[in-house]
Amino acid sequence: MEVPKSILDQVLPQAAAIWADIVSKYSPQKIEFVGTLLLQFLTFWLPSICYTLLDVVAPTFSQRHKIQPAPKQPTRREIARCFFVVLQNQLLASIIHLTLLSAASKAGLKSTYRIETSLPAPVEILRDVILSMLMREALFYYSHRLLHIPSLYVRIHKKHHRFTAPIALAAQFAHPIEHIFANTLPISLPPQLLGSHVVTFWVFLAYELVNTATVHSGYDFFCQKAKMHDLHHEKFNLNYGSLGLLDWVHGTDKLKKRRAE
Ligand SMILES: [Zn+2]
Ligand SMILES: [Zn+2]
Repeated sequence: MEVPKSILDQVLPQAAAIWADIVSKYSPQKIEFVGTLLLQFLTFWLPSICYTLLDVVAPTFSQRHKIQPAPKQPTRREIARCFFVVLQNQLLASIIHLTLLSAASKAGLKSTYRIETSLPAPVEILRDVILSMLMREALFYYSHRLLHIPSLYVRIHKKHHRFTAPIALAAQFAHPIEHIFANTLPISLPPQLLGSHVVTFWVFLAYELVNTATVHSGYDFFCQKAKMHDLHHEKFNLNYGSLGLLDWVHGTDKLKKRRAE
């Protein structure tokens, strides 16, 4: 008896043909830049705006699912300011990305990630994404702890902590130095070090952007995924990491005793 073809069997050859066509038509730099920018819109701005609009479209449902009470939530004015700061940060990151790509191109180098006519195998994507997540956990945890050193906290990280009850967009509400060194590099660097395919980088980026919007959303969705980082914004001295792995190793997964008592 013939086994019916799965949807993946039908979709993958089509995706591979479209990808080969894109690679033959555009330069690696253009593919990397436009694809990365597109993902920022689709997997950060879009979910963040949906989370934020929930309060306007379904206020009762929104309040029922907010982790912190209504009086602690930011005002519309604060949300509008957040929007413009995030826009500035994204603009800065895009200008740096474009400058680096153009410098690399002039030096005769191709894209920062692997760009070839074939797509990466699913098992390669899975391996590189898992390794990138672990590397990002280390880069983010230690840079974030560094930012909590009093002198750096006051000058740089205090801005991100302005939202003690965060919203999705506030994930990138940060000082420009923090945005580049603690937000952007821990995500862009691991796949580069691993020599990953650009599509693998995009899968990893999409996961991290949806994740950061969700953990800052202030909602208890997806089995309370936001609770850990929400508590970091509320109490400051715990849950510095993303996966929780290094918080467990360093014992920063619990409130310090003086605060618990
Ligand atoms: Zn945060
Ligand atoms: Zn912090």
